[in-house]
Amino acid sequence: MNELGSIHFDGFYRKLVANQDIHQGETIVVLPLDSQDYPDQYSIEASPGIHINCEQSIAGAINHSCNPNAAVRHFRIIAWKCIKENEEITIDYRKTEYKMAVPFECQCGFCESGTVIKGME
Ligand SMILES: [Zn+2]
Repeated sequence: MNELGSIHFDGFYRKLVANQDIHQGETIVVLPLDSQDYPDQYSIEASPGIHINCEQSIAGAINHSCNPNAAVRHFRIIAWKCIKENEEITIDYRKTEYKMAVPFECQCGFCESGTVIKGME
């Protein structure tokens, strides 16, 4: 399947960027069929307790936003809103991860400063 995002690098910072305009509800990438039973830096919890290893997928470059434009549905990343070409693709880790392997202080610009993203808990 055609993937609608490309990985961009900004120093060590990786992000996934739309390589074309994406309509709401469209599939951006299908998650790989490679699951593990623990979270790590590259995994996405596609279903409770099912951590998809995305190290080899463009999905592994998707960063968190508290105001995301994409979401995880049925083992795919789908556009939650219309996404313009060259816009960064983001998901809300608090909606997917029960307990994150590596919590971090959010820099998304949509939340209160000092917000720590650690999963649903
Ligand atoms: Zn935030």
